[in-house]
Order: sequence, then C-alpha cells, then structure tokens
Amino acid sequence: MNVILLGPPGCGKGTQAKRLEKTKGLVQLSTGDMLRKEIAEKSDVGVLVSDVMDSGQLVSDDIIIKLISVRIDAPDCKNGFILDGFPRTMAQADALSQMLTHKGLSVGKVIELKVDDDAMISRITGRFSCSSCGTGYHDEFNRPRKAGVCDVCCGVVFTRRADDNEETVRSRLVAYREQTAPIIAFYDKMGILSRVDGMADIDKVEADLIAVIG
Ligand code: AMP
Repeated sequence: MNVILLGPPGCGKGTQAKRLEKTKGLVQLSTGDMLRKEIAEKSDVGVLVSDVMDSGQLVSDDIIIKLISVRIDAPDCKNGFILDGFPRTMAQADALSQMLTHKGLSVGKVIELKVDDDAMISRITGRFSCSSCGTGYHDEFNRPRKAGVCDVCCGVVFTRRADDNEETVRSRLVAYREQTAPIIAFYDKMGILSRVDGMADIDKVEADLIAVIG
C-alpha cells in the first residue's frame, strides 16, 4: 500500500515514517530529506532551493514533483511507500494523482497526524540528530543515554537542521496552514483520509498508524 502522512512540521511524520519502514516494509519518501541531500551535494537543485528552505517557504512545485516522480520509479518503491512532506500544495496533490494514475499506482490511505501548534515549536527547536547514523534526539524529551554520545552508533558529532530555529519554524507553520492544510479536505472527499492523535506517546501513535494501514 502507498500512504501519505500529513501534518505540520514537528508532528512526527519523519519519526513515524522511519518506524513504519521497519514494521510495514514501506519506503519513506521524504521530500525534505531529498532536498537536504541536494543541498549537501551542492547540486543545481540544491543551490536553487537552499535560501527558500532557510526562510521556511515552500520550494517550487515543479522541482518537488520532478524529484518525487523519479524516486517513485526506483525498484525499492515497488512494495509500497510513505510520502512524508509531500504533497504540500493543492497543485502537488493534483500532480500526484495524475502521476500515480500514469504509473498504474494509487494512494491507499492518507493519515493526518493531529497536533497542537504550540507544542510543535518546542518539539522542533529542541531536536538534533547523530551526524553518522541519523538517529534523532531532543534536548528535553529524548537525550542520548550518555551525554554527547549516540545510543545507536556511539557517534559523537550531532547536527541541527538549519531551518529548525524558532523564526523559521513559525514561517513553516504559516506555510502549512495556508498551503498544505487545505489538501486535507481534498483527501477527505475522496474517502481515504484518517486522523491519528500525534500528541500521544510515540509507540501509541505508531500502533494507531498501523491499525489504519492494516
Ligand atoms: P521537511 O523536512 O518536510 O520539514 O521540509 C523542510 C523544507 O523543505 C520545507 O520547509 C520546504 O522549504 C521544503 N520542502 C519539503 N517538502 C516540500 C514540498 N513537498 N513542497 C515544497 N517545499 C518542500
């Protein structure tokens, strides 16, 4: 099955998509991760999108749709994928429908993670990850067991996303409310939308997602 995870920045889409990769064998397709890779590689796309991402605005639909279309064709997507951070505009939702029809594919479930806006700001501004293995941590809610050492790979270098500062997070939340939230109604009308409480304990959220996906 192909799944879309919807919800504002910091709602846990990325964390839960990674868990579902393991439990359900679905591939996480995060457009944010794809763009950060392009920036790290200093590709033409990376150079184009870097300032836009730093400001918390949305990258142009054309760039995103091209990235996703190519990625979906990769063999590892054959058994199903989870879209994390895409679609984010009505134009992207329309393009996705057309693209999937053209590829003979479809979306089985769209799941909105419901969260509280204020909680999002502290969730995001406190997060960091291990530079070696990518394991995510939080200053307040989820520190490494030994300070400064990754629990998983013992790495000692950690990074924070450039756009995880409070000012940019506020812009990202505005972009979500204005451009992404309206697509929830679109999927609701199609009859494939479910809602899960994203404020619950991390294991409970995962269990609820699995119950929806089946
Ligand atoms: P994320 O990692 O999903 O929080 O995305 C980080 C940033 O990447 C966003 O604030 C946007 O600037 C950009 N981005 C990611 N996905 C999209 C998308 N589907 N459409 C437009 N911009 C995106």
